[in-house]
This record gives sequence, structure tokens and C-alpha cells, in this order.
Amino acid sequence: MTAHTSFFQNVLDYVDRAAALTNHPKGLLDQIKHCNSVYHFEFPLRHPDGSVEVIKAWRVEHSHHKLPTKGGIRYAPEVNEDEVKALAALMTYKCAIVDVPFGGAKGAIQIDPKKYTLDQLERITRRYTHELAKKNFIGPGVDVPAPDYGTGEREMAWIADTYSAMNPGQIDAIACITGKPLSQGGIRGRKEATGRGCFYALREACAHADDMKALGLSAGIAGKKVVVQGLGNVGYHAAKFCREEGDAIIIAIAEREGAIMNPNGLNEEEVFQHRKTKGSILDFPGATNIPNSIDALELECDALIPAALENQITEDNAPRIKARIIVEGANGPMTPGAEEILRQKGTLIIPDVYANAGGVTVSYFEWLKNLSHVRVGRMGKRYEQASEMRLIHMMETLTGRSFNDDQLKLASKGPDELDFVNSGLEDTMVVAYQRLREIWKTDARVHDLRTAAFLDAIEKVARAYAELGIFP
Ligand code: NAD
Repeated sequence: MTAHTSFFQNVLDYVDRAAALTNHPKGLLDQIKHCNSVYHFEFPLRHPDGSVEVIKAWRVEHSHHKLPTKGGIRYAPEVNEDEVKALAALMTYKCAIVDVPFGGAKGAIQIDPKKYTLDQLERITRRYTHELAKKNFIGPGVDVPAPDYGTGEREMAWIADTYSAMNPGQIDAIACITGKPLSQGGIRGRKEATGRGCFYALREACAHADDMKALGLSAGIAGKKVVVQGLGNVGYHAAKFCREEGDAIIIAIAEREGAIMNPNGLNEEEVFQHRKTKGSILDFPGATNIPNSIDALELECDALIPAALENQITEDNAPRIKARIIVEGANGPMTPGAEEILRQKGTLIIPDVYANAGGVTVSYFEWLKNLSHVRVGRMGKRYEQASEMRLIHMMETLTGRSFNDDQLKLASKGPDELDFVNSGLEDTMVVAYQRLREIWKTDARVHDLRTAAFLDAIEKVARAYAELGIFP
């Protein structure tokens, strides 16, 4: 597959590669591949000195086969329409892979958020929401954005507030956006969900002893040496859960200004605090500096998690990449040409359309919570606690032995919202990996997980269109 300068064309090529393994008619495949609605708009922002800047923005709804459509909003200085289309398309396939009943979408504002004051960012975000609402590009049953690169809970709260103000009395209004702060209708576990999902993906890949053997690795995530690029939302949480829950060793972390390495392991929170106070990741106590950040991707390690931006692994650096497993935390971190080189080296690539689907999975849970107007687990927790206690007392009666207070507390805890969210996310990621692996291992024409993922997604979207009766 040749590398294109167009990110969207790269996605189309991935789809074509998988679509060639199906018997679907060209018309249906075209309908699946292309973007249903592309909205590009510009609006003015007045600066304190009276000058006016015109801000470029987009919302792309890739597929209406299921509604609402769903996808993050990115604030980045270089973002363009092609990138938003590519990211919107990836969302369609991602949702299908993890069985989240949404079409794909993506939004963007072409700004460097660091160059604007808080007040300006709020005005930009509220105006963006206003423009989307005017054209029916946002709404709980229409299109539901979420955070992405350069945005977070704060922007989501502004969007929810603007939309609610424009739709007084609409009882489901806050379901117009996910990734909100908890106090504004958010859900526990959403912020960390994408990184946590990357951890589940890596843990599940490592659990297959045969696959690890083929890579020259032992089974299990514990002790695996991991390099993470990007200490933002996805990278930070991927590192955190791989280390805390997987016992993996984070040997290097790369940020814009450089990277640091410590073969004995780094603690992402300490590194984050160091960067916050010193203004740079470099000179972290006990670690070696890697001044050219991108060089960190070439370190000797078991797993590499690119979690910053697209096109970080190219035909240029792919031959020097030594990681045996790559978990694509970011969207499109690798060009198709780089993928070809890595595939020939036998690297296991866990593709973005699956690996970073944890965010949209928990966004789906948040949306359901907003529509049901009740915190997940609120109605059942006491009941479950009581059932667990009854079971414990029966066991005590039958065995003649008593549990101590700590054991009783642990056994009868009853699930809360975070427990439900994490178990739903874990199940989603594990089940999806197993399905993709099954396709990869049983269909001789499928040579990698990315093709398996696109094939799985195309079949599901095609089925939805068939069930709508649009295509045979
Ligand atoms: P973020 O803004 O929170 O973090 C990105 C981090 O990458 C920042 O710390 C930034 O300084 C760093 N970075 C930028 N350029 C870099 C470079 N050249 N080298 C090293 N680090 C660099 O963004 P995020 O939400 O973590 O998103 C990261 C990626 O994950 C994006 O591709 C996004 O589309 C994807 N993603 C995010 C989510 C989500 O829930 N946030 C979900 C799915 C996919």
C-alpha cells in the first residue's frame, strides 16, 4: 500500500484492503466509505486590541447508518478538512468494532489553544457550539461530540451549557456531548477510559502465549518494557494502568520538547508533576534525556504506545523501530508504508480503530446515563450488597466459620458507577480483541489485526444498511 499525503485516503486504502475480501457491491462500499455530511464554517473572534481573527472550524459526520453520530472535537493549529474526514471515518469503524451503536463523526477548530486566554477559549467553544446547533450538527439523537486532542472536560462543559441554553426544557439536553465533568452529567472513568482501554488491549494481546512466542516474548503483560509517546490524556492513563494494574515497566516517555528514559521504570504521575513545575519533561531525576523526542520511538522495548498525534511512525523511522508490539493509542500514528515495513518485521500492530476505542465505549455509557437520568448502579447497589451478605451468612452457617470485618466489607462491597464502567469497558475491549484475533487467525487472507478490524467493521455497517433495506 502506498503512503498518501492524505490521511483520509490512507483510511480509504485500509477500507479497500479489507473490502476486497467481501462480496459487497461497489455502491454499498462507496456508501460506507464516504462522508455523509461535511460542514466547514468560519467565525470571527475579537481580540482585546480590537482586531478580529477569523477562526476555521469543521464538523464531519461520516456515517448516518446509526444515529446519533459520535466523535471528538480537536483543537489544533494544523488541523484541516482531510484530517477531520479521516478521523470521522475511523470513528464509524471504531464504533462498529466495539459494538457501540453510533455512526462516526469528528469536529475540529484550527487553533493552538495555548495561544488563547481562558475567556477567548470559552467564547470560541460556545460560538462553535452555536454554529453546530444552527445547522443541526449537535444534539442527543443527532450528533454527540466528545473530547479529543487539545480539548477536555472544561470544553465539554461549555458545550453542554451552550446547547442546554439554546434548548430550554429539553430534558435530554446534556446528552448532546460526552466527556463532561462529573458535576455536569459526566460519568466516572470517562477521562481515563481511552488509556485504560489501551492497557486492556495490550494485556489481552500479551495473554495469548502463542502470539507472544511468535514475537519472541513471554506471555503476560507483567514485566513488559513499554515506551509511551505523549503524556496527555491517552498516554498518561495508558502508562498508569500498564504500570499499576499490569506491572509493566514504563522505560521511556516522550513529549514535544524531548523524551526521558529509565530502564528501571518511570512513574507517569511523577513525570507529569515534574513537567508541570519545570515546564519540560527533560532532566527528570534518575532518567536519561533524549533531546530529540522522536528518537524515543526507536528504543529497545517490548511495546510502544504512540499516544500523541498522527504520522509519527513513517517509512523513515519504521526500519529502526524495535518494539515487538505497537498499541496505537493515537489515531493514525503510523503511515501505511511504515505499517508494511513493520509487518514484514513481524511486529504485532494493535490498530487505532480498536486500541483507542475505550473512550467512545465509556462515552456511550455516559450518554446512556444522561438519557436514563440516573447514576449507573444507583438503584441496585444496596440490593446487591444485601444479596452478597445473605450469601456470606449462608456460607458461614454451612461451614461453621466466620468472615472477619475486612473480609465482610470486601465481599459485600456492592458495585458502584466506576466498577460498572470499568467492567463494561474491560469486557468490551477483551471481547473485541478476541473477535478480531479470531478473524486474523482463521481467515487465511487476513494477515494482520488492522485488516481484521476493518473487515469486522465493514460487515457490521453493511449489515445495518441491509437491515435498513437500502441495499440488498
Ligand atoms: P492530549 O492533548 O490530552 O495529549 C496529547 C499529548 O501529546 C500532549 O501532552 C502533547 O504535548 C503531546 N505531543 C504533541 N506532539 C508531540 C510530539 N511530537 N511528541 C511527543 N508528544 C507530543 O490529547 P489526547 O486526548 O491524549 O489524544 C491523543 C491522541 O489520542 C490523538 O490522536 C487523539 O485523536 C487520540 N484519541 C483520544 C481519545 C480521548 O479520549 N482523548 C480517544 C481516542 C483517540
